[in-house]
Amino acid sequence: MNLAEWLARTARVAPDAPALLAGEAVVADYREFARRAATIGSALSRGHGIQPGDRVALFMSNRTQYLEALYGAWFAGAGVVPINAKLHPKEAAFITEDAEAAVVFLSDDVGDALRPIMPACVREVISADSPAFERLYTAEPMSAPVLRGLSDLAWLFYTSGTTGKPKGVVMTTANLHAMTFAYFVDVDPVAREDAILYAAPMSHGAGLYNFMHVLRAARHVAPESGGFDPAEILGLSQRLRNVSMFAAPTMVRRLVDHAKDTGSDGDGIKTIVYGGGPMYVADIEEAVSVMGPRFVQIYGQGESPMTITALSRALVADRSHPRWRERLGSVGMAQSCALVRTADEEGRTLPPDEPGEILVAGAQVMGGYWRNPEATAKTIRDGWLWTGDVGSLDVDGFLTLRDRSKDVIISGGSNIYPREVEEALLQHPDVHEASVIGRPHPEWGEEVVAFVVMREGAALDREALDRLCVDSIARFKRPKAYLQCDALPKNNYGKVLKGELREWLAKGERST
Ligand code: AMP
Repeated sequence: MNLAEWLARTARVAPDAPALLAGEAVVADYREFARRAATIGSALSRGHGIQPGDRVALFMSNRTQYLEALYGAWFAGAGVVPINAKLHPKEAAFITEDAEAAVVFLSDDVGDALRPIMPACVREVISADSPAFERLYTAEPMSAPVLRGLSDLAWLFYTSGTTGKPKGVVMTTANLHAMTFAYFVDVDPVAREDAILYAAPMSHGAGLYNFMHVLRAARHVAPESGGFDPAEILGLSQRLRNVSMFAAPTMVRRLVDHAKDTGSDGDGIKTIVYGGGPMYVADIEEAVSVMGPRFVQIYGQGESPMTITALSRALVADRSHPRWRERLGSVGMAQSCALVRTADEEGRTLPPDEPGEILVAGAQVMGGYWRNPEATAKTIRDGWLWTGDVGSLDVDGFLTLRDRSKDVIISGGSNIYPREVEEALLQHPDVHEASVIGRPHPEWGEEVVAFVVMREGAALDREALDRLCVDSIARFKRPKAYLQCDALPKNNYGKVLKGELREWLAKGERST
């Protein structure tokens, strides 16, 4: 079973249905979308030697060619490695090398900076903005996608690791099947009249939602801005109708603010699926009162893609249940493909309302970490995925997230692992120690704050530290504040007590 079968099937069932749209302009119907994917697949396998199981990476901003390249790679039997376009070129190079990608698709806006540091494993670089991409369409199309197994790699998703280096999550075809089918049951039905708008990065959740829309012959819309622009989204939705999208809580907030300012009620939007980071109750309440019952929440992670729990449209809009507010602050109930429980450190199931680590099982749980059996064995134990998130389940099965045991900072829906930032800061010869935490931010959810201990006699040079970060990590990971202290609070084993740092921040003991 190959994911490209779904596209081939839809092209037979609904060849004339509009498939790919750049803004409002239809650039391909399903017949043409599938034909292009079959030609790209053929060019990859015959022209560039791609064998089943090889990796094809994408470092591109959102555009319709993203989907053509994904399905082209699947046609040839490859596993895809979509890289977040917001990452630093050095981070993209690391991922490309770790995945041992043989071919890389780029868009010039983000990809040009990767070219000079392209790892040696890459045999071919193809820009979606160059005539070379369209020349792929002239190859003799493959008659059918290469046969693949359900447990084969389909999508290699890089998640930032606690060790500072991102880890590849092996999403198999079976994982993505389970995720796709659960969407129809737990999140939203999809019809041919619908459109999925790629307002968030296609390398992540937004891109994973293409499958449901391919299966139903719905439209795929890449906004012309290539990113998240509230005015563009509201305008496009009004004209295209039945528009769905995945959005991080920050995006929802910006969209709602814009809707309020312009008197829009979100007309034309069918569903906004939000998740990826915590949503404040006050914010989602306002979102529903401004835009109506258009919202569904999901909670997931790369290791169980988009599929741990969901809070349905009806539950997000409900104001009559005695505990509606609590439920709105939860992440909902287990999706139908997922078994969810909370456990103590030994893996014993905890009683209702008691916080513990969230464990997940089901066909959607990743095949493992890429070439990292040690990390896989730590994360998947006795068939249960240890999510690193802490939460509690109530008697009705609603899960509320309490904390994240992995200390990850989520800013604007993007995960930032403190260690990566700390390592960047520690490159400075005058920085003795650094510890990074998140602090609540009304718009971004959280923002990065760095506690820095300077070497004796050295002064904290904010600009120099900023420059170091800009040189090695994505801009959004840069600390928004540097707080100097004499020593970091530590336990007996020398581990920094981040809880104490958070208390310092809350008490304002160390000000910016
Ligand atoms: P990633 O693997 O990059 O998708 O990040 C997944 C992490 O984001 C999860 O482990 C949670 O900590 C957080 N997360 C995802 N969805 C939600 C949600 N609906 N509410 C709060 N946090 C979330």
